[in-house]
Amino acid sequence: MALMITDECINCDVCEPECPNGAISMGPEIYVIEHSKCTECVGHFDEPQCVQVCPVNCIPLNPEHVEPKDVLWAKYRRLVGLPAAADVSAPGAEGAGGSA
Ligand code: SF4
Ligand code: SF4
Repeated sequence: MALMITDECINCDVCEPECPNGAISMGPEIYVIEHSKCTECVGHFDEPQCVQVCPVNCIPLNPEHVEPKDVLWAKYRRLVGLPAAADVSAPGAEGAGGSA
C-alpha cells in the first residue's frame, strides 16, 4: 500500500529528495505523498526511504490505499516505463541490491 504523511509533519524537507518515485511534494500545509506514485519503495529499496529519514516518524501506511506486493511491483514497472510483467512474482526485496 502507499504511505501517507500525517499532520505531525514539521516540513523539514528531508523526505522529498529521498523518494525514488518523486511521490512526495509540498502540499497546501505539509508534505504529501501521491499514492499513485508510492510503491513503498518496492523496485528501488528494501525499506521505504521516507520513513527511514523522517525525524518525527509521521509517515504511516495509508489504509485507504492497501496494495499487495504484486500490485506495488506493477506500479513500479509502470512508473519506470517497463512493460507490464507476465511474472508478477518478482524477486523479493531482500538482497535485491537497492541501487537508486
Ligand atoms: Fe516515496 Fe518510497 Fe516514501 Fe513511497 S515509501 S513516498 S516511494 S520514499
Ligand atoms: Fe514531514 Fe517527515 Fe517529510 Fe520532514 S521527513 S517533511 S517531517 S514527512
